[in-house]
Amino acid sequence: METPITIIGAGPAGMTAALFAARTGAQVRLIDGNEQVGRKLLVTGSGRANLTNQRMEARRYACTDVAWMEVLLKRFGHSDLIAFLREIGVLTFSTSDGWCYPISESAQTVVESFAHALRLAKVEMVLNTKVVTIRKISNEFSLVLSTGTTLSADRVIVAAGGKAYPTLGSRGELFSSLKSLGHSLNPLVPALAPVTCEMNPWKALTGLRFDARASLYENGTLLAETTGNLILTEWGLNGPAVMDLSHQISTRPGAKLELRLNPLFNSEAELRDLISRKRSTDTPLRVLLGSVLPPKLPPVLLSRAGYPADVPVNSLKDEQIEKAIKQSTAMPFKVTGVRGFEYCQVSAGGVPVSEVDPVNMRSRLVRGLSLVGETLDVVGPCGGYNLQFAFSSGAVAGMEISTPSY
Ligand SMILES: Cc1cc2nc3c(=O)[nH]c(=O)nc-3n(C[C@H](O)[C@H](O)[C@H](O)COP(=O)(O)OP(=O)(O)OC[C@H]3O[C@@H](n4cnc5c(N)ncnc54)[C@H](O)[C@@H]3O)c2cc1C
Repeated sequence: METPITIIGAGPAGMTAALFAARTGAQVRLIDGNEQVGRKLLVTGSGRANLTNQRMEARRYACTDVAWMEVLLKRFGHSDLIAFLREIGVLTFSTSDGWCYPISESAQTVVESFAHALRLAKVEMVLNTKVVTIRKISNEFSLVLSTGTTLSADRVIVAAGGKAYPTLGSRGELFSSLKSLGHSLNPLVPALAPVTCEMNPWKALTGLRFDARASLYENGTLLAETTGNLILTEWGLNGPAVMDLSHQISTRPGAKLELRLNPLFNSEAELRDLISRKRSTDTPLRVLLGSVLPPKLPPVLLSRAGYPADVPVNSLKDEQIEKAIKQSTAMPFKVTGVRGFEYCQVSAGGVPVSEVDPVNMRSRLVRGLSLVGETLDVVGPCGGYNLQFAFSSGAVAGMEISTPSY
C-alpha cells in the first residue's frame, strides 16, 4: 500500500506543496514542530505579509543559476500565485512600487485561509512534532520523530526552511540528514539582515529614517547597490536598502567593507538648480539642503564638510558647495558585520539549486525526495520575493509529486 506523501514543514512552501499534492488525489501528511501552521508567515511584512511582487524577475534573486529560477517562475510565477491565493480566499492588492499584500493587510488572515484550505483538502496534520532524522532504507524513507515514533514514506518533500529567526521553528536541523542522503550544503549565513557599522561619526542621527541609494564597496571597488528605505540605529543600519546587501557582507567575513549612502539619489539635479537660483543670496546652505533632505541631516553633513551650520550660500566658493554636495551623496559607514540569525529574515546557503530540478523540484540525487523553500540556497530581495519563491517551489513540488516518472 502507498504511504502518504509526507511534507516536513508547514511554512508557506510546505503548506502550498500539501495543497497542490492533495489536488492530485494523493493522501498527504504535513508535519511541523510548531503547534500551528505558518508560524513565520504570521510575522512577515511586519504582520501584513508582503506576499509577492508585481515586478517579479528571476534575475533579482541571489542564486547561482538565473536560468534555473526562470524555469521555476515560468512553471508557477506571480500571476499563478495571485490566482492560487484567490482560490483559497486570500485577496491581494499591490502598492505603487509593486509590493503585494492581502487586502486585509493581515498575515493572520492569510494563515487562517491556508489552515482552512488544508482542512478542506483533508491533509493529515501532525503538529507539535519534529522530524529528527530522515534516512533512506532501500526505496523507503524512514523519519524519526521527536515523539519517539518512526514514520515510513515513499515520497518526502522537505520544506523545513533555513536558519533565520530560529524562535519561529526553523533551525536548520535537517541539513545533516540531507547531507547523509547525499546532498551538498552551502554554508548558512544570515541574509536580509541589519548591518552593523561604526556609528560614532553618525551618533547625532540615531533614529533617523530616510530613502537612499546604498552602495557597498570592498577596498574601494563597488560590489552592489540598492535603493530603498533605511534607519540609522546605535549599532548600524536597518531597513530594506541595506538588508538587500547583507548577504554580500555575511559571505565576506573579515573583508574591508564600506557602505556609502546617497540620500540625494533622485533629487540632486533639483537641489543643484535651487542652489544656482539662490547662489547670490544669503540663504543658509542648510536651508537649501533641507528642501530635499530630512531636517536632521544638513547640519551634520555641513559640520562634516567643515562649515558652520548656518553658513550663507553666497559666502561659499563653488568648490566648497561642491564639497558639501559630495558629503551628501556619499555618506560613508565602516561596516563591521551583520546581525545574527535571530534578526535576519532569511538565511543564505543550504542545498544548491543545481541539485534540484526546477521543473518538478525533485532532488536530482535522491529518488522520492523533493526540496523546496528556504532549505535551498536562494535569497530574494525585500519586497515579496522570498515568499514568492517559497510558494512557487512548494506549488511545483506538490503538483509534480505524483507524476509517474518517480
Ligand atoms: C520577520 C520576518 C519578516 C519577513 N517578511 C517577509 C515578507 O514580508 N515577504 C517575503 O517575501 N518574505 C518575508 N520573510 C521571509 C519569509 O518568511 C521566508 O522566506 C519564508 O517563510 C520561507 O518559507 P519556508 O516555507 O521555506 O520556510 P519557513 O517559513 O521557515 O517554514 C519552515 C517550517 O518548517 C518547520 N520545521 C523546521 N524544521 C522542522 C523539523 N525538523 N521537523 C518539523 N518541522 C520543522 C518550521 O517549524 C517551520 O514552520 C520574512 C521573514 C522574517 C523572519
